[in-house]
Amino acid sequence: MNIHEYQAKEILRSFGVPTGKGSPAFNVDEAVKAAEGQPGPVWVVKAQIHAGGRGKGGGVKVVKSIADVRTEAQRMLGMTLVTHQTGPAGKQVNRLYIEEGTAIARELYLSLLVDRATSRIAFIVSTEGGMNIEEVAHKTPEKIATIHVDPATGLCPHHVRAMSKALKLDAAQTKQMSKLATGLYNGFIDKDMSLLEVNPLVITTDGNLVCLDAKMNFDGNALFRHPDVMALRDETEEDPKEIEASKHDLSYVALDGSIGCMVNGAGLAMATMDIIKLYGAEPANFLDIGGGATKERVTAAFKIITADPKVKGILINIFGGIAKCDVIAEGVIAAVRDVGLKVPLVVRLEGTNVDLGKKIIKESGLNVIPADDLNDAAKKIVKAVKEAA
Ligand code: GDP
Ligand code: MN
Repeated sequence: MNIHEYQAKEILRSFGVPTGKGSPAFNVDEAVKAAEGQPGPVWVVKAQIHAGGRGKGGGVKVVKSIADVRTEAQRMLGMTLVTHQTGPAGKQVNRLYIEEGTAIARELYLSLLVDRATSRIAFIVSTEGGMNIEEVAHKTPEKIATIHVDPATGLCPHHVRAMSKALKLDAAQTKQMSKLATGLYNGFIDKDMSLLEVNPLVITTDGNLVCLDAKMNFDGNALFRHPDVMALRDETEEDPKEIEASKHDLSYVALDGSIGCMVNGAGLAMATMDIIKLYGAEPANFLDIGGGATKERVTAAFKIITADPKVKGILINIFGGIAKCDVIAEGVIAAVRDVGLKVPLVVRLEGTNVDLGKKIIKESGLNVIPADDLNDAAKKIVKAVKEAA
């Protein structure tokens, strides 16, 4: 789960990490009021969306008067902000964050993540902050340093020294870095984050370290332990199909292709997506209905897939283990009767009660294309979609 910059900064402050001072605003008057509560003479108006790259897209403006705060707030609220992280459709700006301006001497990069390869927490730092870190990694990888922290020992002075050296900090800044890194590390562990990115971490003209931007992702499996974090969820930032799916305990991720997939088991879902690609098409989603799929969940999953206008064909690929093929077949038929079927549908069933499942589908009289195995199913759906186009 993601949260907004202003929410992330509030969490950082609660762990003693220095950030700019600011407040959120949901309308123009609130933005002006927030700015009036700050000393000035420089303010920063920042669009709050769950994506980075806002600066380049016009979503971060440094201004020098309250009148300009008003103008920028009017311009940003309601606008569709397109950045390299939002995709071409962009995201509508519904919230702003008004922060005191910071005089910047240097912009650095710092992030923390769970490094699964080493089973450690990795601090990633670079002197090249503020810009696209992916580009830095590509063009000048030597400018990025990774410092692994063993969770058994926690953050130690030598980790901080390594970071400070990589960031070319002086003695006074290294002292600040020690406190800052400790706060970030504690916050990361305490709140079960999966990513914490500060880009840029700046050195002010007074020589102080300040987090000027903050992006936080939380481990979804640990959210039940953090009702305070869960309360920060902004559903307007999420894909409505993914929200609907989560209500039915379906693992659903929207993708850009044309073939909707309904599969049980994450591994089978991956294999299904791979084989669709192998036959020259692209999956429209990843959807795992889980092991104990009921008729209701199959119906819900089918509705989510068919509601997506990108879907030009559907492939249902179920291996009946705990889930029984006849139950799945009944769910599919109920869903088709309920929402109709405007695109080709290929169904491949295998496993428990497969014969009964196939019989139910056949006798339904619905226009379902049966398939014998995964290969056959993928070929048939790709062919059907191409013919229909
Ligand atoms: P992002 O583009 O979505 O990553 O948004 P950021 O919060 O990182 O802001 C983008 C850029 O705006 C930063 O890299 C800074 O160069 C600039 N910026 C943000 N806040 C301030 C500020 O208080 N003062 C100054 N001078 N520049 C700022
Ligand atoms: Mn940034």
